[in-house]
Amino acid sequence: MSGSAPIEADLAVVGAGAAGLYVSLVAAAEGATIALLAASPFAQTASYWAQGGLAAALSVEDSLEAHLRDTQIAGRALVRESAARVLCAEAPACVRELERLGVHFDADRHGQLALGLEGGHSVRRIVHAGGSATGRRVVRQLSALAATEPRIAILEHARATALLSADGRCAGVSCDDGRRVHARAVVICAGGAAALWSRTTNPPGSLGTGMLLAHAAGAQLADLEFMQFHPTAVIGVAGREGFLMTEAIRGEGGLLLDDDGQRFVDELAPRDEVSRAIDALLAASGGRCVWLDMREVDPALFPNIVESLAEAGLDVTCELVPVAPAAHYMVGGIVADLEGRSSLPGLFAVGESSCTGLHGANRLASNSLSECFVWGARAARATVAEPARGRAQPEPFATPSLAVDGATKAALWELAGLRRSAEGLERLLEDPHPLARAIARCALARTETRGVHCRTDHPQTDPELDARHTVLDAGGAPRLELWS
Ligand SMILES: Cc1cc2nc3c(=O)[nH]c(=O)nc-3n(C[C@H](O)[C@H](O)[C@H](O)COP(=O)(O)OP(=O)(O)OC[C@H]3O[C@@H](n4cnc5c(N)ncnc54)[C@H](O)[C@@H]3O)c2cc1C
Repeated sequence: MSGSAPIEADLAVVGAGAAGLYVSLVAAAEGATIALLAASPFAQTASYWAQGGLAAALSVEDSLEAHLRDTQIAGRALVRESAARVLCAEAPACVRELERLGVHFDADRHGQLALGLEGGHSVRRIVHAGGSATGRRVVRQLSALAATEPRIAILEHARATALLSADGRCAGVSCDDGRRVHARAVVICAGGAAALWSRTTNPPGSLGTGMLLAHAAGAQLADLEFMQFHPTAVIGVAGREGFLMTEAIRGEGGLLLDDDGQRFVDELAPRDEVSRAIDALLAASGGRCVWLDMREVDPALFPNIVESLAEAGLDVTCELVPVAPAAHYMVGGIVADLEGRSSLPGLFAVGESSCTGLHGANRLASNSLSECFVWGARAARATVAEPARGRAQPEPFATPSLAVDGATKAALWELAGLRRSAEGLERLLEDPHPLARAIARCALARTETRGVHCRTDHPQTDPELDARHTVLDAGGAPRLELWS
């Protein structure tokens, strides 16, 4: 394939999960041509694996302000209000648009959307499909639409290895198989980085490569210290290691129990609180897991979870499920504004690769799929207004090293896990992987405990750091910047 003519498109979209598919469909509807790069099959995206659903203030008991308040409480005084307001205001319209595109969300017996409850939400506002098969249903429908849209060329097995530069702008992308795309703008939708940690709920491709490509090209990253650990990932069940037990199970009455069968935490508190309560209990007892009791939960609400565990020999209708925290969601990423623009002209970021400040220091459950669609639509429209490409031939920016080994994953789990300290983070600065080092630098710069970032050597939250985000310029030291 090397040496073949570059593909010319208005837009290069790196990644084909919820964010990349939605950006592509909206941009195509605006008249743009799109080259959509997918390193892995649709079924191996985090979006496909999403269970609970999308948060949107749709019920009569709910409002933009209530959704915003819950997002801010979960985000621990670090939520960028302008971004969270955009999400809460526009998520309901995105749900309607997805329905128009053919996604069938679950309805109650009156035909109204059936809304689920998850941790940190003060009312029912989670829209879901197929019970806990939301991501699968959404991705299947959007990918089917993208495959038949003549303006979208899907480049399967195309792994971006460098961004291209022309006239001081990002002007395309090159792939590991030698293919190149030249475009007036590039949108990074390459997902998160949780699979860099050895214990994770994520598909193996969530390695933060989009963040590395953007940073190597000069774009700012932010808030990499905030890896969210999901409290309830299966542990010790052969073939289901890291399998996610959605928070919606606890929303329907599922309980967390210790070895003596006693409850020890409010199951519907925000994730950072629940994960840390489990971690503290396991540290004290020396145990490996706590137990999720869903024996009183209607199994018909979570058919794919019930089935998946039954295949592994565990009957959730009469047995307890062994669970423990696992790396789940990268809150930080490529700094992006309200239209998804990064700090590098011509480069945008949407979805888990991006960092708008919306999630603060701890993402509220189910705000991330909503973010993919709200920012997907905004970024798609903004890219269409980007200037046309000049005559200069695009050349690669720096090519980052993307290889990851088991030692890096083990080091992140040990040194940048649920609890960290300067001593361990300084050791992580020696890791060969550039994103592991960047995570360590951000985590060292935040000398406090806040949200999902817990420093044993700085156990208090420092109010001076409210609203201050850890920004990493290419080549520079991290600085704490006030975002409003
Ligand atoms: C098990 C699980 C359950 C979840 N449940 C929920 C939920 O109920 N609600 C919710 O809001 N969130 C949930 N999340 C989080 C949410 O699913 C993700 O944050 C979101 O789907 C991310 O979407 P994305 O499009 O940004 O990335 P992804 O869906 O991860 O897609 C990334 C894409 O980028 C591609 N890619 C990566 N690197 C490259 C490269 N170098 N070149 C080309 N392509 C590349 C990948 O192949 C993939 O196509 C869940 C996550 C997991 C893992």
